[in-house]
Amino acid sequence: LPVLKVVENLGVSYVRSADTYKNKLEQELRKLKFPYKALAEDDYDARRKDHISHFILRLAYCQSEELRRWFLQQEMDLFRYRFNELTDNLRQKFLDHVNLQFEAISEDLKNEWANDLCASTPGLSMIKVKEQMFYKVGLADAVELFRARRVFIKDGFAYVPLKDIDAIVLNNYRTKLSKALALTARSLPSIQSDERLQPLLNHLSHSYVGPDYSVQKNTGKISLEQIDALAVKSFPLCMRQLHKALRENHHLRHGGRMQYGLFLKGIGLTLEQALEFWKKEFIRGKVDADKFDKGYAYSIRHSYGKEGKRTDYTPYSCMKIIMSNPPSQGDYHGCPFRHCDPELLKQKLQLYKVPLSGINQILELVKGMHYQLACQKYFEFTHDIEDIGFSLNHPNQYFAESQRFLSGGREVKKEPTHLGNSQQKSTGQESSNSTSTSSNTATDAELEGLEEYFAED
Ligand code: SF4
Repeated sequence: LPVLKVVENLGVSYVRSADTYKNKLEQELRKLKFPYKALAEDDYDARRKDHISHFILRLAYCQSEELRRWFLQQEMDLFRYRFNELTDNLRQKFLDHVNLQFEAISEDLKNEWANDLCASTPGLSMIKVKEQMFYKVGLADAVELFRARRVFIKDGFAYVPLKDIDAIVLNNYRTKLSKALALTARSLPSIQSDERLQPLLNHLSHSYVGPDYSVQKNTGKISLEQIDALAVKSFPLCMRQLHKALRENHHLRHGGRMQYGLFLKGIGLTLEQALEFWKKEFIRGKVDADKFDKGYAYSIRHSYGKEGKRTDYTPYSCMKIIMSNPPSQGDYHGCPFRHCDPELLKQKLQLYKVPLSGINQILELVKGMHYQLACQKYFEFTHDIEDIGFSLNHPNQYFAESQRFLSGGREVKKEPTHLGNSQQKSTGQESSNSTSTSSNTATDAELEGLEEYFAED
């Protein structure tokens, strides 16, 4: 999964055919120890692991149209990179292996047609034509090349150079994978009846493997008076929206209280501060002090592990916010990049002084369903930096990075250092948390108990 997240991140930041993209992807795959050259190296164990993880992700990502589309796109990009990295021999071996038996034309025929092949295939000189193998391919398999007028056609066949065969192989892979995902989705009901598998698959599509932000070095270092200013300077849009709604309405429904309350805990609010913060705001609205103490204080103490099962609850990750419990009318929780109408999102961004060019870039990313990348762009524009230098996975990470940047504690890195898993690399605070990393699977189960306590509106 971290590999696919890296692929997504680089895919929207760079042109996929550019050398920079390839170099960066290679660096990231090396860092993640992904066996992208396993086929070349004939490393059975690495290939086995790769296959197993692919099929597990297939199961997890076949569950909705949105998940399928995301998975398909990242797998295609990864496949394109890996295929292009193969030597000619290995490509041929691969084609035979997957039964794509395109017939190579003879040297004599190639020499006879050399002028036509050279004229019809952009980017090929006469010397390259002599060097390359050309394959006779049915038109149905070469639609893309045919449509872009990039291939020599004769008697109902396309004659494709080895360098372009990837477009055909990719097309074939897309069709197969997309059918396989649809088929897997159909078999979901039988998988859902297996109680060992279902929780794992549910959580995998929005799993998070960074620090859980439950233990904070700065607990108690933030005063309640600072929160308004911090909301403007360092809160991600989801939390800024919740804070604004709370200040305006003196109330948040339970989804908002869960999301915002745990975030505040993560940035360092003590239990006493949290009780004071929520109470002060709620009693300015329709809730009196007595009702607050009886109805709401318990749930706040509960979230700090002081009641019930005494679990120390962790703030929500972006994936959890994006993928579960969408807001309905009157709710302010969720991720604005995922859950807001684009027009409304545009107005919010204008209100927060994001320049028009930035708004357009953000909306483009939202359209492509790259919500966390849209949020990274928001960070860049609100902090006036060129490259965020980390991969965003958690609202509390956003806050920590913002604070570090604003206090001059970090040099803005121009190059991403560990895309897709950057929480484990950055601050001292974060590294101290890395031992308590969580996939949220266990905590999600625990949170179900907590949500009951928060259920009162
Ligand atoms: Fe919040 Fe994450 Fe959405 Fe940003 S991407 S607004 S931090 S949920």
